[in-house]
Amino acid sequence: MSDPAALLDVSSVTVRFGGITALDRVSFSVPAGHITGLIGPNGAGKTTLFNCLSRLYSFSEGEILFEGRPLTATPPHGIAALGIGRTFQNLALFRTMSVWQNIMLGGHCRTASGFLSNALRLPRVRREEEQLAAHAARTVSLLGLDAVAQTPVADLPFGTQKKVELGRALMSQPKLLLLDEPAGGLNHEEVDDLRQLLRRIQSELGLTILLVEHHMNLVMRVSDQVVALDFGRKIADGPPADVQHNADVVRAYLGVTP
Ligand code: ATP
Repeated sequence: MSDPAALLDVSSVTVRFGGITALDRVSFSVPAGHITGLIGPNGAGKTTLFNCLSRLYSFSEGEILFEGRPLTATPPHGIAALGIGRTFQNLALFRTMSVWQNIMLGGHCRTASGFLSNALRLPRVRREEEQLAAHAARTVSLLGLDAVAQTPVADLPFGTQKKVELGRALMSQPKLLLLDEPAGGLNHEEVDDLRQLLRRIQSELGLTILLVEHHMNLVMRVSDQVVALDFGRKIADGPPADVQHNADVVRAYLGVTP
């Protein structure tokens, strides 16, 4: 049964790679405006699920509904325009370009002008560029990147580069933001900064976030609900405190075979 209040509804999704069942009838829903944490030990199926949501992988069984409509009705290149943005485990930035240029690039899936109107610099194109620049300026400020806006990304610390990646994803004005290990490689202070930033993004932009993360402290403190996977199966789903103490979750993380 799908949840009518959910922005995203994953229902019995199964993905197989040869003999491996990477996702085995996984179901859960992501309520609009919430932060949902997705946890599980290595190989649990988290990235596979993200790749299904981005339509990079197809699933053999089950259904994913976004705003009540099947995701499979949209081709992979239409996912960003539909309202699903994502960041990657390994940064995918243009390193020699500035923070500003990288962030502006994230907004181009939202512009409607074609090649010819761009080449002719028609008034519509100028208006779109101005709107894009205004949105980029708000995003840069929200992320606290004003002082480094003109700095090439390669010259910045890793934690700041991760914020640029986040900013680029925000430029597509997603309704659902998929974050793949945003705390990976960050120090303690940066993780705390990220936690506050995610809460700010949630409240100021009204965004729904699905967060894959190994940093338990961050997931448990920032999430409204947590979904736990192990060997491709959902083993728990609920408020962070409940999932953290769930016997199957504890067992999965301690590596004890049932
Ligand atoms: P990690 O925390 O290490 O990133 P994960 O929870 O994201 O792990 P997945 O990467 O989704 O786990 O992997 C789930 C299972 O599917 C693993 O057994 C993995 O080897 C397998 N798998 C994932 N992608 C592929 C692929 N493209 N081809 C074959 N097997 C794959």
